[in-house]
Amino acid sequence: MKVLVINAGSSSLKYQLYNMTDESVLASGRVERIGMDSSIVTHEPAGKPEARDVSEILDHVTAVKRVIDMLIHPAHGVLSSMDEIDAVGHRIVHGGEAFKHSVIVTPEVKAEIKRLFDLAPLHNPAHMMGINAVDANMPGVPQVVVFDTAFHQTMPETSYLYPIPKVLYRRHKIRRYGFHGTSHSYVSEAAARYLNKPLESLKLVTCHIGNGASCAAIMDGKTLDTSMGMTPLEGLRMGTRSGDIDPAIVPFVMNKEELTLNEVNSMLNKHSGMQAISGLSSDMREVEEAMSEGDANAKLAFDMYVYRLKKYIGAYAAAMNGIDVLLFTAGVGENSATLRKAVCDGITFLGIELDDALNAERKKTARDISTPDSRVKVLVVPTNEELLIARDTYKLAMK
Ligand code: ADP
Repeated sequence: MKVLVINAGSSSLKYQLYNMTDESVLASGRVERIGMDSSIVTHEPAGKPEARDVSEILDHVTAVKRVIDMLIHPAHGVLSSMDEIDAVGHRIVHGGEAFKHSVIVTPEVKAEIKRLFDLAPLHNPAHMMGINAVDANMPGVPQVVVFDTAFHQTMPETSYLYPIPKVLYRRHKIRRYGFHGTSHSYVSEAAARYLNKPLESLKLVTCHIGNGASCAAIMDGKTLDTSMGMTPLEGLRMGTRSGDIDPAIVPFVMNKEELTLNEVNSMLNKHSGMQAISGLSSDMREVEEAMSEGDANAKLAFDMYVYRLKKYIGAYAAAMNGIDVLLFTAGVGENSATLRKAVCDGITFLGIELDDALNAERKKTARDISTPDSRVKVLVVPTNEELLIARDTYKLAMK
């Protein structure tokens, strides 16, 4: 059984082809600059050299066609025919309140995803183009949609309602949804397996720290709370996103700087966070490097980032009335020993004791970086959202 996983953006499309017999990746790649001249397809087949193709790809239907061409290409292909693809799984950013699990794509599911365009105007329309492009190229092949928000749908009202007029929730569904759910779900299950304990018996704070960053309080195997909100802007300080700020800053800045809604939105999403404070970069590697060379702004940006993360971990430990596992994942979480140390050394009162030597090791597998005496286990678990999408697709398509 072979499953193709697709993450369609407005001008890009990433893909992975899985052999579900052993969950190995047969090929992965991406199409960039869809809708522009000189679009690029980069294809990485397992055990063969990378292939690149530059041509004009004006829409997603053509993009999926090019992906299939690559997958069955005589030289760098990994399949003898398109018919070997049994099912396709899609990453969908926003599932609103309608989707609490992954589902098979039907006309009703498509209509519901369309109704959610308002909540994720940059992402959901692009995902829909990906679904339609697969329909056009591979008619009859089952498709499954996996939502970034679904895992967090277990949150109670106390976590997901905002204290604003309730009519806004009824009319516009303004509430906390949370994102990175596929990742929080994947790593929490992996942690339970690693510790050989039922997930339901653990209180975890999972920190998905990449360019975008969120943490989640997970108890009884479910999300109790998570830091991203109605959109992925809320919560932690991130690469270019502000995370939590006083909401009154928005009208104040619009007035003083004569900014439009779009401009202020762009300021908070694209020109804030670590980039704004360091004045240097949104990339943690560059910020850490500058900090080690004595750059004061880089140090301030790093310290602010760590400070917010510590506050959320403490808040979630309080919300769950305890914490058994602190978990780091994603680009920064998996790779930055400096960040993990700065966070853990500042919250030892919770019963967290980091083993500096284990923390400094570089490994690509799930591992415990706390001392044997540490009451809270500190784990680093590589995330793999694509694999979870492939698994859900396999499960649902096989039914
Ligand atoms: P995205 O949110 O785009 O999926 P990733 O999870 O890939 O992002 O994380 C990207 C971030 O990970 C970047 O800020 C990058 O600097 C950081 N990163 C990657 N490797 C390291 C490292 N060795 N040390 C510190 N940060 C790292």
